Amino acid sequence: MINRNYHTHTYLCKHALGDASDYLERCLKLNYLTLGISDHGPLPEEISRKITSRRMNFQEYVEIYLPMLKDAKNKYANKIEVLGGLEIEYFAGYDEYYQKFLNDLDYLILGQHYLKKEEELINIYGHLSKDDLDLYAKTVSLALDTKYFKILAHPDIFTWRIDKWTDQCEEVASNIIDAAIRNNVLLEVNANGIRNAIQQKRLLNYQGKVNYPYPRYEFFMLAKKKHALVIINDDAHAPNRISDQYTKLAYNFARDLNLNIVDKLDLK
Ligand SMILES: [Zn+2]
Ligand SMILES: [Zn+2]
Repeated sequence: MINRNYHTHTYLCKHALGDASDYLERCLKLNYLTLGISDHGPLPEEISRKITSRRMNFQEYVEIYLPMLKDAKNKYANKIEVLGGLEIEYFAGYDEYYQKFLNDLDYLILGQHYLKKEEELINIYGHLSKDDLDLYAKTVSLALDTKYFKILAHPDIFTWRIDKWTDQCEEVASNIIDAAIRNNVLLEVNANGIRNAIQQKRLLNYQGKVNYPYPRYEFFMLAKKKHALVIINDDAHAPNRISDQYTKLAYNFARDLNLNIVDKLDLK
């Protein structure tokens, strides 16, 4: 039964469609129990100056996003559980900034799309060096150890451009999975990764099965071996992507590996 999703974007990030109500109307038709809205969080000033990244800014967060969440919670009370969150990057040294979001919202998802390497910012979708891969593992582990996050979005995104799983991939995966386990963070099987892989013809093969750069068999086999908990999310960037064919493929992927699936987020 697919009836919850905790990873949902809105028009505010400028690369998704729809507002909270558009997604909630779709969820009501599907008899969903919970929808978590978790658009891309605003980046700290110093960071956003260095990259062109499509996200809401801090002013939009305060003036549009928070009121939109509040209205949605009121409008849909008794119909469906509406939660407010953000998918956000982690950069060390901004604790007050994360504390503010935690005060305002129900939960945070870590989605590490950028790595801070001295003054440079590295895009996770680019070709990553060995040092960059180690930096990804280090950044994510450090982030999860802050306990700010409930879910790690697409933990295996670091292999987007890596076709052949290496010993280093295994080591990076192992460090991330350990950090998730020790901090009670759920590892996400991301349906949008399946969509990207299929639409961009980035399909891989794992022992005769279709594999994806993310969610990836090798990563989640290790997660299973270590008894980590996982959650399946749409990472929806349009209302009709809630529970579509890619969602079903994500569920098939998780069931095929017999992963320990958590369907309800513990907000305590
Ligand atoms: Zn996005
Ligand atoms: Zn996302």
